[in-house]
Amino acid sequence: MASPDAIEQRLLRRRSELSQRAEQVGADLRHERDPLVADFADQAIQRSNDEVLREIGDSAKDELRQIDVALRRLAAGQYFICASCGGEIEEARLTALPATTLCATCAQRSR
Ligand SMILES: [Zn+2]
Repeated sequence: MASPDAIEQRLLRRRSELSQRAEQVGADLRHERDPLVADFADQAIQRSNDEVLREIGDSAKDELRQIDVALRRLAAGQYFICASCGGEIEEARLTALPATTLCATCAQRSR
């Protein structure tokens, strides 16, 4: 099983990737490098790009929140414990979804 230190490193790396992405999206949404255009058709394109950017930003922020929860659970020694049934979360599952708080059985049930 991966050591808590290694898991923490992995979570922190992912966390910094995500906050960079969220920051980049924020800068793009403020149009720091591509000022809003005057042309109406171009504005429509920009608006729909902004829509996509906002979704990317929102999902990055969601994942950031999950990672913060995972880091707290790790620090509290609860990282491997399912938040629902108290059983152990499968290692393969944590490798695939490092921010999960549920074992495979409970995740299946809550869907
Ligand atoms: Zn469970």
